[in-house]
Amino acid sequence: MRTSRTVNELRRALADSRLARQRIGLVPTMGALHEGHLSLIRRARAECDVVVVSVFVNPTQFGPEEDLDAYPRNEERDARLAAEAGADELFAPSVAEVYPPGFATTVSVSGVTKTLCGAQRSPEHFVAVATVVTKLLNMVGPDAAYFGQKDAQQAVVIRRLVADLSIPTEVVVCPIVRDADGLALSSRNAYLDDIQRARALALRRGLDAAELAVRQGERDAGRVAAAGRRVMLDLGVEPEYLEVVDPQDLRPVQTIDGQVLVAVAAQVGPARLIDNSLIPAGQAAQRESPGEHRERIGAFNDQIGATEPCSV
Ligand code: AMP
Repeated sequence: MRTSRTVNELRRALADSRLARQRIGLVPTMGALHEGHLSLIRRARAECDVVVVSVFVNPTQFGPEEDLDAYPRNEERDARLAAEAGADELFAPSVAEVYPPGFATTVSVSGVTKTLCGAQRSPEHFVAVATVVTKLLNMVGPDAAYFGQKDAQQAVVIRRLVADLSIPTEVVVCPIVRDADGLALSSRNAYLDDIQRARALALRRGLDAAELAVRQGERDAGRVAAAGRRVMLDLGVEPEYLEVVDPQDLRPVQTIDGQVLVAVAAQVGPARLIDNSLIPAGQAAQRESPGEHRERIGAFNDQIGATEPCSV
């Protein structure tokens, strides 16, 4: 695997592949690679002739109070893991390479950036994400780019900008990779001590509770979200948001009558964590027998260690 630090170097490295019309795949990351990132690299490896992994901790997408300085960085380890997962090129540009002096252009996606994390983080966050992703797509010129469903809103924003700006790249969104106990992998999990790590599971449990409510036939999105929030609060974590939205445009849903996205964010100790669950359209219609219902609730209460049986 080669490493390029400038756009010129990278384009030279990819020139022959492009001439030979090989399929180029890009996996954009901020480094601190874990199995979630590696799943994207492996998927790109399986579907493309050339796999480029970018590692760039984009300073503009961190708010003034956020963790830019603390964000874990270890390029040597990232390079080794990316190569093992099948990457051909590591693109690790400097901040000056991405934002040269006089930089003055941004990409702003309206609508889908206003809800969920867009309503909580600084308004510049998704402008910064959209701008850097547009730049990376222009720098690399990939046929396909791979993103994780873990950042569900980011994936919707990227699909929107690729369509709106006629960028000739296929956007591939890959499933969330979780630890054995259900916690979604995140570079920010590294900030958690053992107690915080245990509390972080509240996000997954909140999503489970929301999903269970839908499975049991609850169609009122407000009540589904309330069930999820209640479980999180019981586990000592206050959700920043837990909302039921349309997976395509992220608009709030009132009545569940098709596929929905339940998205959650919460601060756990030093880490701001996000997670989500796509609940398929059929789920709300699946009625359980009373026996199945009792079994599921029992298992659920055991799983979350509920002292008060949770009846969602
Ligand atoms: P990041 O380095 O956090 O910017 O993430 C780079 C890419 O990896 C993004 O497309 C993320 O959605 C994706 N990603 C991060 N965590 C996971 C995960 N647990 N499962 C799947 N994809 C992930």
